[in-house]
Amino acid sequence: MAVERTLSILKPDATRRNLTGQINARLEAAGLRIVAQKRLWLTRAQAEAFYAVHAQRPFYNDLCTFMTSGPVVAQVLEGEDAVTRNRDVMGATNPANAAAGTIRKDFAESIEANSAHGSDSAENAAVEIAFFFSGLEIVG
Ligand code: ATP
Ligand code: MG
Repeated sequence: MAVERTLSILKPDATRRNLTGQINARLEAAGLRIVAQKRLWLTRAQAEAFYAVHAQRPFYNDLCTFMTSGPVVAQVLEGEDAVTRNRDVMGATNPANAAAGTIRKDFAESIEANSAHGSDSAENAAVEIAFFFSGLEIVG
C-alpha cells in the first residue's frame, strides 16, 4: 500500500442536514487526513462536467439536479490506500446495500442522495482533485 489522495464530496443531502462534521469524524477515524476542503454550490455546468462520465446513464439529469440543490463540501483525503479506504468507509452506492457502520448506511437518504462521493481509482482521483483544487490549496 502507498499513501494516496482521493477526492471526496459531501453531497447536498449531507450539508442540508448539518452532517459534515459527523462525516468528517468518520473519515478521520478511518485514518484519512483532510488535506484540502472547501464548501461550494456547484453550477449546473460544473455538475454536468464533473459527472460527464455518467452522461448516458438514465439518472444523469436527476443527479445533476440533486448535486446543484444545495452546497457541497469538496475535500482531498490523504492516507494509506485512500481511494479504497474512503470507498470502504462510504459503503455501497445504494444505502440499502451498504454495510453496517458505513457513512451511506447511517446517513444516506436514497441511492441518489447518498451523502458522499469518493473517487473510484487513483487515476480518476487525480482528475477529480484537479477539477476542484489547485496545488496551492492542498496542504498535506
Ligand atoms: P460516487 O461516484 O458518488 O462516489 P458511486 O461511485 O458509488 O458514487 P456511481 O455509479 O459513480 O456510484 O454513481 C454516481 C452517483 O450517481 C451515485 O453516488 C448516486 O448519487 C447516483 N446514482 C448512481 N446510481 C443511481 C441510480 N440507479 N439512481 C439514482 N441515482 C444513482
Ligand atoms: Mg462513482
